[in-house]
Amino acid sequence: MKKIAVLGGGESGVGAAVLAKVKGMAVWLSDMGSISPKYQAMLNENGIAWEEGGHSEDKILDADEIVKSPGIPLTAPIIVKAQQKNIPVISEIELAGRYTDAKMVCITGSNGKTTTTMLTYHILKNAGVNVGLAGNVGRSLALQVAKEHHDVYVVELSSFQLDNMYDFKANVAVLLNITPDHLDRYDHKMENYAAAKFRIMRNQTKDDAFIYWQDDPIIAAQLRQAHTEARLYPFTANEVADSAAFMHGDKLEFNVNGDSWEISSDELSLSGLHNIYNSMAAGISASLLDIRKEDIRKSLMDFEAVEHRLEYVRTLRGVRYINDSKATNVNSTWYALESMKSKVVLVLGGKDKGNDYSEIEQFVKDKVKAIVCLGVDNTKLHNFFDGKVAVVEDARSMAECVAKCSSLATDGDTVLLSPCCASFDLFKSYEDRGTQFKQCVNALK
Ligand code: ADP
Repeated sequence: MKKIAVLGGGESGVGAAVLAKVKGMAVWLSDMGSISPKYQAMLNENGIAWEEGGHSEDKILDADEIVKSPGIPLTAPIIVKAQQKNIPVISEIELAGRYTDAKMVCITGSNGKTTTTMLTYHILKNAGVNVGLAGNVGRSLALQVAKEHHDVYVVELSSFQLDNMYDFKANVAVLLNITPDHLDRYDHKMENYAAAKFRIMRNQTKDDAFIYWQDDPIIAAQLRQAHTEARLYPFTANEVADSAAFMHGDKLEFNVNGDSWEISSDELSLSGLHNIYNSMAAGISASLLDIRKEDIRKSLMDFEAVEHRLEYVRTLRGVRYINDSKATNVNSTWYALESMKSKVVLVLGGKDKGNDYSEIEQFVKDKVKAIVCLGVDNTKLHNFFDGKVAVVEDARSMAECVAKCSSLATDGDTVLLSPCCASFDLFKSYEDRGTQFKQCVNALK
């Protein structure tokens, strides 16, 4: 009997363990931290042996293969030891890919993954496809492969999930953009991070499709070196008529395998330039799966925004409140500001991952009338923005922050929570930060 050790007892690890068990392997799951009651119950129900609060090396290093959860770095001592013993270390996605012949639509990029994944899923689901939603959003791919049957999966893949994928193949791969993020996990080298993202096109053949944002210089450079047989479907906001999707005036024009159609940017349910890209990527993916253009258009028009991504909260005394708590890096805040049509009171701050604020400087000068810094240590924000924006204030809790925003904003303004930073200094997660924002905004009188 093949012995599998699974490291990490979250969604991905538990899914992998269940799949390995269903396929008749001897499974041992181990987590350095604690495993939530929900996943403990799932492991017990499936008769899977597990431990938490530490790794039993003898059991783990006795395995024929190790499945590593994406949160565990390749430099973790247990992984280094496994590699010294030549035990293959794979990802949950790699394991799941071995046991399904469903079509895989896989989406990666530094920003926009969740939105594009949900949008693509929405189009396919509305068109009646038997489709599963997997990866970073929703349930793990492995768990669905173990327990359900789908003809197509739309899978959101972070660069960490792409590490340790070897034979897995995406039938349709989407690469939205590559901007600096998580560089701490990639030796602080952009080329390592870019290479991890490009693993999404590994193993693709002439029957597979690679959809990408053609104006991204990092993607363009990496693609020149890539040896791929995949059919290429670039998209752009410029008027490049031989691209699979491009802009013509205010219209998105699609041209996929000879089939062409268009939709006006005003008709899209999601606003902002970034969502034009996301809609293009989702539209091309759906076209490649033979979804009728009328169905694609309709779904692009009736999709509801994903929570915490430029999510409209309410309008009070003429002030619009927008929750973009998921903007945890400077580039995503750039797109949020790009889409703003009014003066903005901007909430920034949190745990800075080495941000360079000059990227948003021009938008801030043009559109932002006040900044509220919401973090434990706001020094870096003050150093950069003081003197460039008339008002730069501090807040140490969400209630204080929203109260300040509401006194700074006047009729016609937008209060935008788009912090450029991770949330862990004051909040449990970006969801917690966004939820608290909405609660405080909804409590305003
Ligand atoms: P991810 O899953 O990659 O983190 P999300 O879809 O959750 O991406 O969006 C996160 C934030 O990134 C959004 O709040 C938005 O401001 C910004 N964003 C969304 N799509 C894009 C894009 N295509 N390019 C740049 N920024 C984007």
